[in-house]
Amino acid sequence: MKKVIVIGAGLAGCECALQLANHGVKVELYEQKPSKFTEAHTNPNFCELVCSNTFKSTSLDYASGLLKAELSELKSQVLDCAYKCKVPAGDALAVDRNMFSKMVTDLIKSNPNITVLEKEVTKIPLSEPVIIASGPLTSAHLAEEIKQLTGESFYFYDALAPIIELDSVDLSKTFKQDRWNEEGEHINCILNKEEYTVFWQELVNAQRVPLKHFETEKVFEGCLPLEVMAKRGFDTLRFGPMKGKGFKLEDGTEPYAVLQLRKENILGNLYNLVGCQTNLTYPEQRRVFSLIPALKNVKFARYGAMHRNSYINAPKVLTNKFSLKEYNNIFFAGQISGVEGYLESVASGFLCAVYMWQYLNGKTTTVFPATTALGALGNYLVCASEVNFQPMHITWGLLSPINAPKEQKKSALVNRALNEIKNIKEQLWK
Ligand SMILES: Cc1cc2nc3c(=O)[nH]c(=O)nc-3n(C[C@H](O)[C@H](O)[C@H](O)COP(=O)(O)OP(=O)(O)OC[C@H]3O[C@@H](n4cnc5c(N)ncnc54)[C@H](O)[C@@H]3O)c2cc1C
Repeated sequence: MKKVIVIGAGLAGCECALQLANHGVKVELYEQKPSKFTEAHTNPNFCELVCSNTFKSTSLDYASGLLKAELSELKSQVLDCAYKCKVPAGDALAVDRNMFSKMVTDLIKSNPNITVLEKEVTKIPLSEPVIIASGPLTSAHLAEEIKQLTGESFYFYDALAPIIELDSVDLSKTFKQDRWNEEGEHINCILNKEEYTVFWQELVNAQRVPLKHFETEKVFEGCLPLEVMAKRGFDTLRFGPMKGKGFKLEDGTEPYAVLQLRKENILGNLYNLVGCQTNLTYPEQRRVFSLIPALKNVKFARYGAMHRNSYINAPKVLTNKFSLKEYNNIFFAGQISGVEGYLESVASGFLCAVYMWQYLNGKTTTVFPATTALGALGNYLVCASEVNFQPMHITWGLLSPINAPKEQKKSALVNRALNEIKNIKEQLWK
């Protein structure tokens, strides 16, 4: 019988272990709890939800709803437990976190193909098939090992700038140019003095998310939040990330200030707010950034955030089946692979189990396509830009575009994805 080592019994690791074990693979699942806890974990059981207790919406109006529908169709074990531990929360799938952790732990411990080893992994067994799913708070020894394997492509802290949907930008209030170049790929949102003044005033007074105790020691000097930079003076942003220098407007003048948008994905429908890493609360990000004329009706695909987060530069080091380019037996799943969120970590665990199973059985058949939410998430990991790569949660913008009238777009995306999943299901695990 084939054997796999899974490191970390979190959301991704548990899904991986259960899928592989249920499809005839022996799994050794390593978990450092209960002898060692990360800064955020406290429950000795597996699959612990360290903060909120929700897996987001179940409605098919949201990409997170589609991702759940796909995972349920493919019999995700962890998601099934979540549904069984559901507490009332409207459209959202919120769970009783203790009941949920216990249920997954019992399922794992009663599976005859899974051996649980409750100890910290400090060395990666390079000659064995391994899935690393040790999460954003991976222990220091293991983090050092991963760094040895991936070099500079391993990050410990995350300072995320928001990502927005291009079709929500008023392009008439922008121009396309790179700095010091009359052409280029950046979209630049123009601010005159009055507009910049309002934006600056609201930014410095906006509400921030308090950092957790283990995050405060780190000084994010290399990537200061925009609001912290703004507090240093009225002109700091104008001479920093929002400087107008090096640009020329149609009338030959230099803009007073600009906010640059940089393409985030190959499809070109998602853009990053350049230099705008921020720790403002989500409502404040919506309020403050929409004061920029081009962003008046902006839709966020992902909000900015700052927290401790260990993750690899997936587009640089991973194949499209989540194994290292240099070691095809070492796979990554969950937040450490570059997805963001509980649900996405479960999804990544599911995908990784499929790809590991194929690797063990010499199959090369299925790669989930970006027409599905599962495939779109996987596709982001390998196709996003290596420069400034940052973890991402599922959003419509990651799926391959579809030709349909605006009001029917979401239902068309959902139908296409669920049909595709039904076809894939026929070939999976065969
Ligand atoms: C503070 C914080 C709050 C978050 N809040 C939310 C939220 O509210 N909603 C949301 O959707 N996402 C949230 N996230 C993001 C993310 O979804 C979760 O961290 C999620 O649990 C990631 O799943 P995972 O399986 O990748 O890792 P985890 O669930 O963290 O599982 C990793 C497991 O590996 C174990 N481990 C670590 N190192 C070793 C080792 N060397 N050997 C053996 N075991 C090891 C850990 O003990 C842990 O049990 C948060 C992240 C952080 C850091």
